[in-house]
Amino acid sequence: MTTLLILGSSNIDHVMRVEQLPKAGETRITQDYRVQFGGKGANQAVASARLCLGATDVHFISALGKDPTAQTMCTSWKKEGLTLDALSFIDNENTGSAMIFIDNQGENCIAVNAGANACLLPHMLIKQEALFSKANHLLVQLETPIETVQQALVLAKKHQCHTILNPAPAIKLSAKLLALVDIITPNETEAYKLTGIDVIDNHSAQQAADVLHLAGIKCVIITLGSQGAYVSEQAANASEKKTGQLIPTPTVTAIDTVAAGDTFNGGLMVGLAEGLHLHQAIRFANQAAGITVTRHGAQAAIPYRHEVILE
Ligand code: AMP
Repeated sequence: MTTLLILGSSNIDHVMRVEQLPKAGETRITQDYRVQFGGKGANQAVASARLCLGATDVHFISALGKDPTAQTMCTSWKKEGLTLDALSFIDNENTGSAMIFIDNQGENCIAVNAGANACLLPHMLIKQEALFSKANHLLVQLETPIETVQQALVLAKKHQCHTILNPAPAIKLSAKLLALVDIITPNETEAYKLTGIDVIDNHSAQQAADVLHLAGIKCVIITLGSQGAYVSEQAANASEKKTGQLIPTPTVTAIDTVAAGDTFNGGLMVGLAEGLHLHQAIRFANQAAGITVTRHGAQAAIPYRHEVILE
């Protein structure tokens, strides 16, 4: 049995589409209101559960409130096949939430309440060590406290578990944390934040990847939206120059890119766990994320395994 771990945030998103974003003191009326489950951690956990084959145990480590939202989320995730034994339910906290306004031009205005996500603390992982000891891959992002992300990476490395960091949202990261990462998956904005290099083509993507290789990360994958993903692996010998390559994503009509990156990351981990070669795992991740962008919503848009055809 393969064991996959995802550690990260869980949010409930309240999304309203409005003709124009409300100004201070203004009230706007809308008929278009949706409630959707989000949070990068939860999206990546759902993507992993939907995209994996039967003999895989997908555990989600996250903190929720003791509220009706948490109960509804758990019911939905159980149906997806996620194993929920590593969830924490925090007294006197709400499950994380976001209020999102989107106007006709696609501009948005968002307020996030981290709620229980901010209460996922390093000491809470100690009792999960047995889980880390049997895990094959760990996938983390940055919507939970950074000390907890670091602790998860330390535990994973202690037990020879492969680690993927999706550095979203973009923040500066310590050399100590980066040294624990096997694969990092920034998008262009995050790559800029981490390296100071504006990724505009293959050459600049390689420059950004080289900065991250110097920080000790063997494999860098920069996701590039409709272009796909640029992958660079560090040469075994420092004097040997190895160049990366762009792995294109299918051409589709994108209507909503929410959760595209999350689907990519879940798909990448699943592909690797099934023994696909790195480039093939990226193709699988591109195919899956390419479906997500053709649908509305966050978790609702993530495809199931049978929908992803890998040529
Ligand atoms: P991003 O976070 O925007 O870089 O997107 C993550 C991944 O989602 C990309 O690497 C692609 O695999 C996929 N993706 C995003 N936008 C599109 C699009 N417009 N068409 C096809 N695939 C996309």
